[in-house]
Amino acid sequence: MTTVHTDPLSWLDDEAAAIAAAGLHRTPLVRSASSTAINLASNDYLGLSRHPAVIAAAQAAVGAWGAGSTSSRLVVGTTAAHIDFEDDLADFLGTEAALVFSSGYLANVGAVTALAGRGDLIVSDTGAHASLIDGCRLSRARVVVTERGDVDAIRRALAGRDERRALVVTDSIYSIDGEVAPIAELYGAAHDLGATLLVDEAHAVGVRGPGGRGVVAECGLSGAPGLVITGVASKSLGAQGGFVAGSAALRGHLIDRARSFIFDTGLNPAAVGAAHAALGVLRADPELPNTLRSSVRAFAEAVGAHTPQSAVVSLIVGDPVAAVAAAAYCRDRDLLVGCFRPPSVPAGTSRLRVTVRADLEPTTLVSVAAVVDEALRAVGAR
Ligand code: PMP
Repeated sequence: MTTVHTDPLSWLDDEAAAIAAAGLHRTPLVRSASSTAINLASNDYLGLSRHPAVIAAAQAAVGAWGAGSTSSRLVVGTTAAHIDFEDDLADFLGTEAALVFSSGYLANVGAVTALAGRGDLIVSDTGAHASLIDGCRLSRARVVVTERGDVDAIRRALAGRDERRALVVTDSIYSIDGEVAPIAELYGAAHDLGATLLVDEAHAVGVRGPGGRGVVAECGLSGAPGLVITGVASKSLGAQGGFVAGSAALRGHLIDRARSFIFDTGLNPAAVGAAHAALGVLRADPELPNTLRSSVRAFAEAVGAHTPQSAVVSLIVGDPVAAVAAAAYCRDRDLLVGCFRPPSVPAGTSRLRVTVRADLEPTTLVSVAAVVDEALRAVGAR
């Protein structure tokens, strides 16, 4: 007798139906090169992805090194351009050293898993990015999750531990709503209790701190012992890639132990060239983050939102279907805004996430704010 096997992946249809029924089905927006839409959904806060010097540097890097880095960093995937960028990043951030990964996601996963393992404690802020959460899960350390910015809870978790080594992980600017975490207080708690503090500055570099050096620099903590910075080249720097910055010993340890560094092909030369040139643009124009902050203020005021602490303006809709409809309303009017639903945000807090750009005129921002306001009214969120 022959056995008839049903498709072992038939459960995918049931899963898709359940996701769709909850209004949480996802489809990537496909941008066309000829689109004239105003993009307020990107993380290109300073508009550097289209800066002529950044584009030229990407092209020059491809000319010099080719389209790919051709292997993992530890084989032949490290070019002189990678090292120059790392040195410049470390100098910019006020750390001894930096190590570039091929994405911010991999930088976080690599840093967390290299710094904590079985027998260690990680205290993770609920606002921490998914890549930090995944690092915690992969680490096999005991993980205690504390409410956003709850310094007392972190102190309690650290003080009550049996583990010798502990790591506290947080974003400096929470990616969903753009609020700033209490980094100085968190560092104080970690330092007092013998723990390392890892701060993800993905949304802070280019946005906050002196010349866009981030919240750690704003708190006067650049280069502080026991402080690890992670970040990305994919947001304000308009390119791609991630990094970890801290002591030279940390850099060496990551090279030896971070699996997402060791087993991943090195960041492509175009991205290295672009990111490094973007850092140069930021260094040459330390006013850029201030221009961004004024644009954010103008947009927030025009849309009737409280002034955010970063480039992110989060407008709560509540229901996921209504949030998608509000984003579609904007898209139909040539305006791209982010739409965040569970699992990216807690249930009942689906929202439009608008990211302001320094390269847009304030008058443009005020007119697009009117479209966003109309969209929110059209779906009954106002
Ligand atoms: N950290 C934070 C806070 C982020 O928002 C993101 C990107 N969404 C990442 C890390 C991951 O960076 P990348 O996109 O470069 O992988």
